Amino acid sequence: MEGFDLLIKNVVIPGRGEGLDIAVKEGKIARIEAGIESPSSQVLQGGGKLALPSFANVHTHASMTLLRGIGADLPLMDWLQKVIWPLEGKFVSPEFVRDGALLSVAEMIRSGTTLFMDMYFFEESVAKVVKEAGIRAGLGFGILDFPTKVAGTPREYIERAKRFVEEFKGEDTVFPVICPHAAYTCSPKTLAMAKELADGEGLLLHIHVAETQSEVEQVRSQYGNTPVRHLERVGFLDSNVLCAHMVWLDEEEIEIVKEKGVKVAHCPESNLKLASGVAPVPTYISKGILVGLGTDGAASNDNLDMLEELSTMAKLHKGANLSAKAIDARTAFKIATENGFAIAGVRAGRIEEGYEADLILLDTEVPHLQPLYDPIAQVVYSARSSDIDTVICKGRVVMEKRELRTLDEEEVLYIAKRWGERIRASLS
Ligand SMILES: [Zn+2]
Repeated sequence: MEGFDLLIKNVVIPGRGEGLDIAVKEGKIARIEAGIESPSSQVLQGGGKLALPSFANVHTHASMTLLRGIGADLPLMDWLQKVIWPLEGKFVSPEFVRDGALLSVAEMIRSGTTLFMDMYFFEESVAKVVKEAGIRAGLGFGILDFPTKVAGTPREYIERAKRFVEEFKGEDTVFPVICPHAAYTCSPKTLAMAKELADGEGLLLHIHVAETQSEVEQVRSQYGNTPVRHLERVGFLDSNVLCAHMVWLDEEEIEIVKEKGVKVAHCPESNLKLASGVAPVPTYISKGILVGLGTDGAASNDNLDMLEELSTMAKLHKGANLSAKAIDARTAFKIATENGFAIAGVRAGRIEEGYEADLILLDTEVPHLQPLYDPIAQVVYSARSSDIDTVICKGRVVMEKRELRTLDEEEVLYIAKRWGERIRASLS
């Protein structure tokens, strides 16, 4: 008889039915039906919970969790230049990055995320945490024109990124990405070096684009063009480019994005909190541009909760467009799951045979989810991350009955508080 690695008994799969079992083999969903009796190394009792795909967070700076809550109520440029960059200059180290990543991965697992796309410094430290925790991440060193602790010149940043690529290329759950920070922090020459590295290695490029009006003005005065036009003019845009934010684009620029097959990481809560604006996401969707959802760093959100993010996204665009259909619940859910995995090149985001076994079990036996008429819409508009009971990544159970299985949460919180004391002391 066929044996499985994991068997999840008795779940509800929206659109498919109730009382179903999900059998997992070698990290993939192998069978879905009622009453699977084959032997399995591990059996989970689903208890009638909803089985849903887990979330893919396509734009983060994971280690910034340690700076969460500092500099509230400032616009982006003041927040970056007066608060965040000085603190990063003082504190960022391989240990800071590791400990911040630990805190963020604990929060991500708790809220049902099994893949994130990260841009920061000392990403080897993030990679170790991700592998230990048993989730997935596309990781890249931020590449800049100005010196930081990581490198002094653009060429040094590129060398640093190259070493990271050599160390992690070909790994299963951690994959390198090339991350030039933005058009206003990277010269055309730096962008060209980053693109050459990414194209040569067959990797994604991940960059911030058109986040604020002041960025658009800055790029225009530097290069005589708006960010998307500038990036196109220097030959940077292509189907392997993931652009975060994309708030301030005109119609012609949206056509360029579509033509080039560029992917978008939409970060609605960060854009709202930093007063950056509202990205024209319904237009992107209607044009067939692939859009994923990101929380951005925890310091600008202030959390990594994808359920909250997707609910905000759906409601924000209805309000901004005066249309209840601007982004419907199913589209919002797909953006946060299947689209994000597709951007990362991972076949997950659906509870279907042959897909990667990245999924969550969500408890609907709570007052705010009853009565349950339309599971997806009700998850989008009223579920909370505390309803997520179990999280599975590539067939591995990383949270069960709200207990983290791969990380010591008490220790993670202790470490985070220690950093909090040090950073707080430097602020006074
Ligand atoms: Zn960002």
